[in-house]
Amino acid sequence: ENPMSPPYLNGLNPPQREAVETLDGPVLVLAGAGTGKTRALTARLAHILMTGRAYPNQILAVTFTNKAAGEMRERVSALLGGQPVEGWWLGTFHALAARMLRRHAELVGLTSAFTIIDDDDQVRLLKQLMEQENIDTKKWAPRAMMGIISRWKDRARLPSDLPPHEGGEAAGGKLVQLYAQYQARLKAVNACDFGDLLLHMVCILRDPKHADVLADWQRRFRYIMVDEYQDTNIAQYMWLRLLAQRDGAAANICCVGDDDQSIYGWRGAEVGNILRFEQDFPGAKIIRLEQNYRSTGHILAAASGVIAHNEDRLGKTLWADADDGEKVAVRGLWDGPAEARFVAEEIEALQTKGWSLDQIAVLVRAGFQTREFEERFNALGIPHKIVGGQRFYERAEIRDALAYLRVIAQPRDDLALERIINVPKRGLGDVAMKTVVTHARARNLSLYDAIADIVETDELKPKPRDTFRRLIADFERWRGLLATMAHTELTAQMLDESGYMAMWQADQSPDAPGRIENLRELVTGMAEFESLPDFLEHVSLVMENQSRNDTAQVTIMTLHGAKGLEFDCVFLPGWEDGLFPSQRSMDENGLKGLEEERRLAYVGITRARKRAIISYVSNRLTYGNWVNALPSRFVDELPEDHIEVAAESGVYGAGRSSHWDSSGFGGSSRAATMAQTPVVATQTLAMRQSLSDHPYVRGDRVRHDTFGAGTVVNVDGAKLDIAFDKGGHKRVMDSFVVPLEE
Ligand code: ATP
Ligand code: MG
Repeated sequence: ENPMSPPYLNGLNPPQREAVETLDGPVLVLAGAGTGKTRALTARLAHILMTGRAYPNQILAVTFTNKAAGEMRERVSALLGGQPVEGWWLGTFHALAARMLRRHAELVGLTSAFTIIDDDDQVRLLKQLMEQENIDTKKWAPRAMMGIISRWKDRARLPSDLPPHEGGEAAGGKLVQLYAQYQARLKAVNACDFGDLLLHMVCILRDPKHADVLADWQRRFRYIMVDEYQDTNIAQYMWLRLLAQRDGAAANICCVGDDDQSIYGWRGAEVGNILRFEQDFPGAKIIRLEQNYRSTGHILAAASGVIAHNEDRLGKTLWADADDGEKVAVRGLWDGPAEARFVAEEIEALQTKGWSLDQIAVLVRAGFQTREFEERFNALGIPHKIVGGQRFYERAEIRDALAYLRVIAQPRDDLALERIINVPKRGLGDVAMKTVVTHARARNLSLYDAIADIVETDELKPKPRDTFRRLIADFERWRGLLATMAHTELTAQMLDESGYMAMWQADQSPDAPGRIENLRELVTGMAEFESLPDFLEHVSLVMENQSRNDTAQVTIMTLHGAKGLEFDCVFLPGWEDGLFPSQRSMDENGLKGLEEERRLAYVGITRARKRAIISYVSNRLTYGNWVNALPSRFVDELPEDHIEVAAESGVYGAGRSSHWDSSGFGGSSRAATMAQTPVVATQTLAMRQSLSDHPYVRGDRVRHDTFGAGTVVNVDGAKLDIAFDKGGHKRVMDSFVVPLEE
């Protein structure tokens, strides 16, 4: 190292230095995970400031999350010797576009005090408009319609850019018209949604009438830098291009990214943006970084082995100077609780070896997976935080379900009843609500008791009266069932009968399936408690026991949220087919979906510096049903030389290593190592399922453990509707029935 070179250049390798010091003209750093792209970008920012080439407010630097922006801010000021940097344009696309739009709001008919509305408001507004237009909101879920509109916005398409029937059948063929009305309505209330922040700015900047505005911004930003470029959408890309174009001169734009880490396709990101960079910015210098500084050899090789299965990629060389380190651990566990126990025990073991908790992360594919870890960590007192997501019991759908349960357990719980009284929509209007509230206040009654009173009278119109009557009758019935029925079963029944589950099932929005999974997970989790009151007590204690921020904490977050981050030790649980890769993303996007899932696996493994621990279970309890699981195909894609496999006896993979008791199953084939366990029949069936998706067809005679013999009347994937000879229609998992020979 050159003692004369400034500290921010120290330790950078030659191509990194090139990325830092090539300041004129477009630069693309295209490189794999952990090669120091973000570090080079940070040094470049410091370099530009230190050499006086620009003031902080003349540099536009885009990061993917607010957290990343904060980190870059810290890193740069540390590189600059601790001096704080003021006035710079460093942040996410949304934050930066919002800040710009405040200055030009009037050009799109807003004032600078415009509000930014959230998802719920978006959907509510669209729904009102749909109702005004007499569009069936049951058939066309507003949330799903909003999703389509948002994708249009991601592509910078205004209503006027779209042919009137672009939406096809959606919303009765009126989606484009609704989009226009929605935009008009937002304008009327001086508001924007997230998509608008960029969309409005793109409209302003590309409008020849406002050429002066564009010219001002172009003059201002001497340097533009973008991290995680592979995940930009079209609107973001257009905004960048507009700002980067300068008459005559090549733009000083530097983007860094990795096509293998493009994981937001489902949200409108276009990996094409990175592949097209050279064409869009002629004369661009492409810099490749090949040395990975983050991970040990085995971790890097394992990640590279998985991503090599993708066809659609540029392909890159990656090598690490670091030790091989420990092989990636692959663990097969019996079920979800065993997996959570295993992870917690490993964390405690690491802790005793001196590892810091804030260098440990648990990265999950789906939000519902966090619950089991939260519970286990709570029980053991392992400090942890959920990043980029809510704690399980704070999620809206869980709060709703808990509100129902609270009213069942304790009818006078007004707060709970208020929360769900009209969820799902029961058509209870303001007048009806006011009537009961007034009565409750006047007589000092709880809402529940007031309703029970009022439905006996003629105070209300027949319709709301019937609705209230039914609601009270439902709650009375559920409360009564509590005496005879398991609280888990009751909860499942309540979620069905109340229409709450159906509300989410009818909802086509991208987050609805996750909410349904969370609800099922809630039922699963309740099984650990003796009774409903026990469970509710537990929840209120957990909710209160929010961890403080002053101690080191294990991070629990989704793989999507972990992009760009690194930890010494990373746990990657739930590597089971259907969960990861997610069945939904494969169903919806086929091979493309699978490849995006695989990139997610690559992102996950490459977050680890020293230890990566992948796990899968062979039994998942979902919604009170045991479902057999097979290890993810990504487990099979891990290169043998770089992993070390062990499984609890009776689990696929047992016998591949001697780490745990493999019960004498020495064979190497995973399928051959299944142990004799009480559920051996269902495991055999799991194998059948893996061969043919639907082992049963309509008309099959089957026997179920609890319900006895019956006839299959409908097959819905792994779910069967069965007319039981005794006991009527039931929906069961096919893993719990066996063919009936008669
Ligand atoms: P990702 O694709 O995951 O976002 P990245 O390419 O942005 O990764 P960084 O996060 O910048 O990679 O760097 C990964 C790790 O390697 C960091 O801990 C960083 O400090 C370290 N690192 C980067 N460059 C060097 C270098 N030249 N010498 C030593 N360490 C480095
Ligand atoms: Mg990075």
